[in-house]
Amino acid sequence: MTRRFTGDTLVIATHNKGKLREIADLLLPFGVTCKSAGDFNLEEPDETEDTFAGNARIKAHFAAKATGLPALSDDSGIMVDALDGAPGVYTADWAETPNGRDFPMAMKKTWDLLDERSAPEPRTASFNCTLCLAWPDGHDEIFDGQVPGRLTWPMRGDQGFGYDPIFIPVGFDMTFGEMDPFQKHAMSHRAVAFTKLVEGCFG
Ligand code: IMP
Repeated sequence: MTRRFTGDTLVIATHNKGKLREIADLLLPFGVTCKSAGDFNLEEPDETEDTFAGNARIKAHFAAKATGLPALSDDSGIMVDALDGAPGVYTADWAETPNGRDFPMAMKKTWDLLDERSAPEPRTASFNCTLCLAWPDGHDEIFDGQVPGRLTWPMRGDQGFGYDPIFIPVGFDMTFGEMDPFQKHAMSHRAVAFTKLVEGCFG
C-alpha cells in the first residue's frame, strides 16, 4: 500500500537549483509549501550507491531525519546507448573539476567519446529521474521516469541546466536547453516520475 503525503510542508532534498526550480514548478498545483535543503543548511550526503534509487534514498532519508519533515529527493542522469548507458548515475561526477562542476566540459567529453567509438547517428540517449519521498520514521516511496531522445552537437540553448543543451527529446527538433522551461517541465523525465508520485502519494 502506497503511503500518502498528508502534511503541508515538504523538504526538497537537493542543492541543485535547476532541479529545485523544476520540482517547485511541478508541485505548484498542490499547494504544498516547499523548503529546500539550503533553507535548513543541510549538508550533502555522499552518493555511495550505484543505482538511481539507492542514491535517491540516501538523499531523501538524510533530509527527512535531519528536519523531522517528509523529504523528496531526485537522483537523475543521462544514459547514452552507444556508451553502454554511461554516464548514468555518474552524470554529475563526469562534470566534476577542482573548481566545481563544468557541464560544457562533460558534454564535450561525452560527444568526443561517441566520436572515438564512431557511434552512428542518431546518437540515442535517455534522461532518467528517480524520485524518493521519505518520511522521518524511515518509510519511503520510489517513482521513476524516462524521456528518450538523441544527442546533438554543438550545444544549443541557454535555458535549463546540466546536459539540456545537447539533448533533443523524441518528437522535437529543439534541445531541452532551447525549450521554454514550462514546456520542458511538462514533459521531462522529472515530470513523468512526478505524475506517478502524484498518483501514488498526492492523489
Ligand atoms: P545527481 O542526481 O545529483 O547525481 O545529478 C544528476 C545530474 O544529471 C545533474 O547534475 C545534471 O547534470 C544531470 N541531469 C539530471 N536531470 C537533468 C535535466 O533535466 N536536464 C539536464 N541535465 C540533467
